[in-house]
Amino acid sequence: MIKDKVAIVTGGTRGIGYEIVRKFLQNNAKVILLGSREETVNKALEKLKNENQNYEVIGLYPNLSDEQSIKECFKNIHSMYGRIDILVNNAGISSNTKIEEFSIEEYEKVENVNIKSVFICSKAIIPYLKETKGVILNTSSMVSKYGQPAGVMYPASKFAVNGITLSLARELAPLGIRVNAVAPGITKTDMVASLPENMIEPLIKSIPLGRIGEPEDIANAFLFLASDMASYITGQILGVDGCARV
Ligand code: NAD
Repeated sequence: MIKDKVAIVTGGTRGIGYEIVRKFLQNNAKVILLGSREETVNKALEKLKNENQNYEVIGLYPNLSDEQSIKECFKNIHSMYGRIDILVNNAGISSNTKIEEFSIEEYEKVENVNIKSVFICSKAIIPYLKETKGVILNTSSMVSKYGQPAGVMYPASKFAVNGITLSLARELAPLGIRVNAVAPGITKTDMVASLPENMIEPLIKSIPLGRIGEPEDIANAFLFLASDMASYITGQILGVDGCARV
């Protein structure tokens, strides 16, 4: 579905991002996965190469919230591949901190990874996506609709991701660039493993489809939105959540 497209996936070392990278590679795209550290990037690359030596994948670890690093990173990728078709802004961190304990340091950390990086990467990719009439995809969350009972800046950051998605879709449509988001429900990754059991269990019980999401459920939606099958879809926040409404 995305044969020979060149895709950049942030937060591609594990969880949902890793599965997006895998899904794109299985569909014959060339993928550049971005992670936060050399060690985790290399580990992810090794795992992918063990699965299939022919996967065309490399890994880099620029600072996502530093405009200059990202500009240089994308420029290098463009000179290596001659084109860039897809950007997936997926890196993110969650929070479960109660408001009274929520420090400004944590506020800034969530903001940097979940919002600033989306802004910086989306801005830096435009010259390249203009050439290919490419696609920007963001990872939002189910909590961007309903909020959550703690960790206020996490849902707030995902409301911002939706705002960026809806606005850029309109701003970039005349350039032929599509912008959409996928809003996963609760999905089996390290992010969820780090949350307390008493928070997760009732959530899973309330999901009408009766199970937690698998990273592959989410990656399938990214594949669809990245492909020409979605050529007339832009400015959408696609919920992939088993109909959870919590
Ligand atoms: P995860 O913790 O397994 O993976 C997060 C990824 O983001 C990792 O690859 C990590 O390297 C990267 N990352 C984190 N901080 C970074 C930084 N400072 N710089 C660069 N990369 C950084 O989590 P996940 O569940 O796979 O989450 C991926 C995305 O999905 C996030 O945006 C998250 O908010 C969203 N999401 C997850 C769930 C869920 O239930 N797991 C639900 C809704 C939305």
